Amino acid sequence: MKSLEELTRPNIWTLAPYSSARNEYAGREARVFLDANENPYNAPYNRYPDPLQLELKKQLSKIKGVPAENIFLGNGSDEAIDLPYRCFAQPGVDNVVAIEPTYGMYKVCADINDVAYRPVLLDENFQMKADDLLAACDAHTKMIWICSPNNPTGNNLNREEIERVLQQFDGLVIVDEAYADFTPQRSFRFDLPKYPNLIVLQTMSKAWGCAAIRLGMAFASKEIIDIYNKVKYPYNVNLLTQQQALEALKDPFEVDKWVKILLQERYRMMEAFAVLPICEKIYHSDANFFLAKMTDAQRIYDYLVDCGVIVRNRTKVQLCHNCLRITVGTKNENAELIAALRQYT
Ligand SMILES: *Cc1c(COP(=O)(O)O)cnc(C)c1O
Repeated sequence: MKSLEELTRPNIWTLAPYSSARNEYAGREARVFLDANENPYNAPYNRYPDPLQLELKKQLSKIKGVPAENIFLGNGSDEAIDLPYRCFAQPGVDNVVAIEPTYGMYKVCADINDVAYRPVLLDENFQMKADDLLAACDAHTKMIWICSPNNPTGNNLNREEIERVLQQFDGLVIVDEAYADFTPQRSFRFDLPKYPNLIVLQTMSKAWGCAAIRLGMAFASKEIIDIYNKVKYPYNVNLLTQQQALEALKDPFEVDKWVKILLQERYRMMEAFAVLPICEKIYHSDANFFLAKMTDAQRIYDYLVDCGVIVRNRTKVQLCHNCLRITVGTKNENAELIAALRQYT
């Protein structure tokens, strides 16, 4: 791996970050806070929240088995996707490499940050080859985007290939594990000590059922997290989100229950799809959704909208022609979808 100084934009490497009132005063108990121009009334919403979310990181650290100093928390994964561009990729100069098809935000953030985006097509089984990704890199490639289980394809990517990228690429490798809770595959967050160039993304938006509160996580070396903390908005995770996340973390068994039900429902739905005359193929899934190749995705999508049932039409995505992406819902919601599809003519 190149040194972190080489990988970081020079203006970010030398950045003197904003020092907030809550940053400068950290730790010891105090009784009177007259340092942040807050209103003394309307507790608890009058006070700025903890800029480093230490209590939340402490609890997450226990659940995830990762030291708090290796955790960054952001306003959804979206913030953790945008930040590496702002920290590492020089606009108009650097580029990134990513698997294709995958989650759309990697490219949107590349475009916003004026960083060239180099997609590398997966094979017909939606698997990647490390050599193909590495061949797409040059001296200006700062990071490689990998998503596993991948969206919209739903499958885990081959672990050995990801490891080869981690070993052979001299820049940063970001593995988005938004759907990790739905698969028994070992999370890459446990491999942080082995790979200083690894950044793992997870979120509370999917299995944890907290998409509304916007809380995403990045796991990485302390050196990378320190750079993120310099560049992020000072109070990027608001108090309500921190409180609600702490509430949710008290009951991880609830999440296990949800995951179990959703995986059962996924299995039932895929069986029902398999025998639909309008379904040509269902793809293997390791997530809470699956991809189905239909006879005419656009027409079926429009029909479902008329029925009040919304799925995701992925027909325009490479390798996903005529594919619909189906999220697993409640038993009743899934039954409604299947019933509507059986009525389709
Ligand atoms: C849903 C999803 C996310 C989650 O984004 P949040 O901003 O945390 O809600 C991240 N990555 C992928 C691949 C996703 O599908």
